[in-house]
Amino acid sequence: MTNIPEIFGSMVFNETVMKERLPRDIYRALKKTINNGEGLDRAVADEIASAMKDWAIEKGATHFTHWFQPMTGVTAEKHDSFITPSDGGNIIMEFSGKELIKGEPDASSFPSGGLRATFEARGYTAWDPTSYAFIKDGTLCIPTAFCSYGGESLDKKTPLLRSMEAVSRQAVRILKLFGKNDVVRVVPTVGPEQEYFLIDKEMFEQRKDLIYCGRTLFGAPAPKGQELEDHYFGKLKSRVSAYMKELDEELWKLGILAKTKHNEAAPAQHELAPIFTTVNIATDHNQLTMEMMKVVAERHGMVCLLHEKPFEGVNGSGKHNNWSLTTNTGENLFEPGKSPHDNAQFLVFLCAVISAVHKHQDLLRISAASAGNDHRLGAHEAPPAIISMFLGTELAGVLEAIKADNDYVQSGRQTMKVGVNALPVFPKDSTDRNRTSPFAFTGNKFEFRMLGSSESIACSNIMLNAIVADELMLFADELEGKPDFLGAVHTLLKRVITEHDAIIFDGNGYSDDWVAEAEKRGLLNLRTTVDALPYYIKQENLDLFKRHGVYNETEMRARYEILLEQYSKLVNIEALTMVDMVKKDYSPAISDVQRGLCETIIAKREVCPDIPFETEKGALKKIAAAADEITEVNDALECDLKNVPRGTSLEVARFFADSVIPKMEKLRYLVDGVEAESDRGYWPVPSYGDIIFSIK
Ligand code: ADP
Ligand code: MG
Repeated sequence: MTNIPEIFGSMVFNETVMKERLPRDIYRALKKTINNGEGLDRAVADEIASAMKDWAIEKGATHFTHWFQPMTGVTAEKHDSFITPSDGGNIIMEFSGKELIKGEPDASSFPSGGLRATFEARGYTAWDPTSYAFIKDGTLCIPTAFCSYGGESLDKKTPLLRSMEAVSRQAVRILKLFGKNDVVRVVPTVGPEQEYFLIDKEMFEQRKDLIYCGRTLFGAPAPKGQELEDHYFGKLKSRVSAYMKELDEELWKLGILAKTKHNEAAPAQHELAPIFTTVNIATDHNQLTMEMMKVVAERHGMVCLLHEKPFEGVNGSGKHNNWSLTTNTGENLFEPGKSPHDNAQFLVFLCAVISAVHKHQDLLRISAASAGNDHRLGAHEAPPAIISMFLGTELAGVLEAIKADNDYVQSGRQTMKVGVNALPVFPKDSTDRNRTSPFAFTGNKFEFRMLGSSESIACSNIMLNAIVADELMLFADELEGKPDFLGAVHTLLKRVITEHDAIIFDGNGYSDDWVAEAEKRGLLNLRTTVDALPYYIKQENLDLFKRHGVYNETEMRARYEILLEQYSKLVNIEALTMVDMVKKDYSPAISDVQRGLCETIIAKREVCPDIPFETEKGALKKIAAAADEITEVNDALECDLKNVPRGTSLEVARFFADSVIPKMEKLRYLVDGVEAESDRGYWPVPSYGDIIFSIK
């Protein structure tokens, strides 16, 4: 039996270990840095490094690395061993404060969007002491931020930390107005629910599309899909169960609070959710979780697919980003309060989120935009590409009453006047959750459901923190110094609700009616990544991030370039893989199918000319016609890829979206059509049925 409390965090240089191993004054200095962001002095850093090294060596580590999150979306590490030469050809194990605090990896191969010319290739990494160091695979990993020599951020952690500061600063201002003078810091907390697929490694290795792209580019549907809905929360298969058990243990060792696991809607699809924590740690942990999901799958002869849409016609995978704000005194700011006064505060924060989401639909949409996620958003299983907010009937009723200066009629209870000094007390929402809403209030937190399964959660949280900070700033500017504070609050709430309730929608977000209704309301419907990205560099967005010190303009323009380039590169790889598979695998197989049919026809004629062979002839005609069309489309696709226009990153991405992707879709449709008509024995790759039901 695993002793969970004993293994939990056993590979983490956490609070307990620090207290145990650091001299008291050093520990205190470090805590100050963690809590208040104060700088560390070198002597202190040396002591911490030395204690970390001793601890890591006891745990079997030989190397250390600065672990960071460049703009590739995955994590990066460069391992250095602790060994340092000493007298007499010997070595000692060393790790200095300097090595702990700052690293200088050669950064020339990481995307920088033109921020860093190759002649000044070095970037530097700087320790984030608010996220604990940990040991993974014999290496002490130190979570770090990654910047260019000019100080521009080249990673996802730096802006995330800056956005945390921004929202904290503004939230504290508001709380002061409510007399919460003991609040000095507000932190965003996040619990990301992660979906994934598990398939057999043997199947995976037979498909170039899975190997190169992480998703299938071809594949006729299996006779059975998810229509019976027998997989969702179903009993775990024994291989999956063994996998999940080991994954939990690996995550627990890393101090990750993996809490729930279950089967998801699609066959072979599963979900893991951790207990929420501070957003920068949640982000680090989610990156580690995705990595461990893949590593542990290998050990079990399986492959974990994190792609947003591994299989056409089967639900894709997303991530639900549960987000809230908590004070250093332990108060969740989205917990509706027990007294009218508490509720005024709750409503101020709620309305800040409502106006933030309404005003900045574009930024939230962009934060979930990727070539992979384009296959999900707007499809029937995922939220639409339109941002809207679900509040639940009770809360929506309260806002409605405030807006109309009406009485608030609480379901089954007394009527209440909603006025200056009498904001209503209301119970936690008990209505059904609306799972079709991209942004739902779920009792004491918001659940943003647009994120793709493979993406880092950093970007969505940077956006959320920054846009809410901006609204809180405007609110604080308006409310500070007002003699009749509650009166001013009421005026503000009423105005905000009136101006922004177009974003609130409690109906079915998957219906076509909603698309039309949303358009009437003036909401954005940015269907693809390429439609969404240009909004990133709109002047008002550049100004917003600058105002809160999250990004400067150069950083944003660089990110915009990187996102577009990544999109184009990804689609290019997929298209190249398709062309290759058609030429080397499918076309030869389709020839074989035709030859087989011809042989049957000839044999029938020879043996007994009066046996009918219309069936074979019909099939042959159909397949021969499809084969010609496949060659034609494949040639056209190849031609596109050889003639990608020169132009801005946006023009190139548009070309991929408008010219390349439609050809890929056509090609797939044709090949899948032949697969459905062909003898199984001829088909060169495992079918959807083989792959999706491969785990017993
Ligand atoms: P479900 O939505 O499936 O009912 P929960 O409500 O328990 O599950 O939470 C889903 C996720 O939201 C979990 O990861 C949980 O830790 C997280 N969560 C709960 N409270 C908060 C909070 N205050 N801030 C951020 N995340 C939270
Ligand atoms: Mg959820």
